[in-house]
Amino acid sequence: MIKYKKIILSVVILIVISIILIVAVNNFLNNSNNKDINVDFDIVTTFYPVQLIVNNLIQNVNGVNSVNVSQNVGGCIHEYEFTSKDMKTFEEADLIIKNGQSIEEFLDKEYFDNFEIFDSSSNIPNVNVSKHCWMNIDNYISQVMLISEKIIENDPFNQNMYYDNMDSYISKLLALKQEYNNVSSQTNIAITNDAFKYFANDGIFNISAELLSIHEGNYVASDIASFIDKINTTNTKVILIDSETNKENVALIEMLNSNTDARIFVIDLIVEPTDNLNQYIESMQNNINVLKEAIEYGK
Ligand SMILES: [Zn+2]
Repeated sequence: MIKYKKIILSVVILIVISIILIVAVNNFLNNSNNKDINVDFDIVTTFYPVQLIVNNLIQNVNGVNSVNVSQNVGGCIHEYEFTSKDMKTFEEADLIIKNGQSIEEFLDKEYFDNFEIFDSSSNIPNVNVSKHCWMNIDNYISQVMLISEKIIENDPFNQNMYYDNMDSYISKLLALKQEYNNVSSQTNIAITNDAFKYFANDGIFNISAELLSIHEGNYVASDIASFIDKINTTNTKVILIDSETNKENVALIEMLNSNTDARIFVIDLIVEPTDNLNQYIESMQNNINVLKEAIEYGK
């Protein structure tokens, strides 16, 4: 009788242990599944140059996505209108990153106070030169570093991969900067975008005439007239135009061509989305080549 009791007790203990084990394994599997869902890290950017940085930093990291809300604008962001679809993208984001320098004018609306939006350019030293801060390689490197820190803060599990991506991107940018630093001249050049003030500040050329606008390509007629006058009176042989204005403002190009002897050189603002992760490196390299050619022509 005692023997039977012992056997029954053993069986009961075994059953209890089995149940505990089954529940524990089940819980563990459920947690793992939840973790898999949580691993998806959605980074939303407001402007393409920022997304290009993010895409370089997250390459080869699983479960991390980047979406840029202003992608359909296909150029610089000044006149971009935020849509209800973008609002949904913002609401579902784990991290929202902007360029800053007030270039994202749509974010001025009070509604956006509800969102935590990370400013990628808050560390750059030369504020108020231009909203197109990424057009200065040092500024861009500063943005890469700040965005890396923020991504790692949000996803420390993958930090080694982010650091590796950051290191390799920054070393490419430093090589580019070295070549940029070798360009220097006193050549007179006329500019049509405040982004080119960075080049002048770095000693690449002297600004002999400026035609600036709030939105690329939207210039005031009287400003164009005095710009042309300045080019002619200072004997300026080179006009730098940004890729956006060159594409959109044919009338201005014609006016400059027929009223001055200066030659137009086009600088890429690097705002047209592509799938090329090296777009900034290659476009800025091309800009450096254009600057060298423009300086040579303008001597
Ligand atoms: Zn712009």
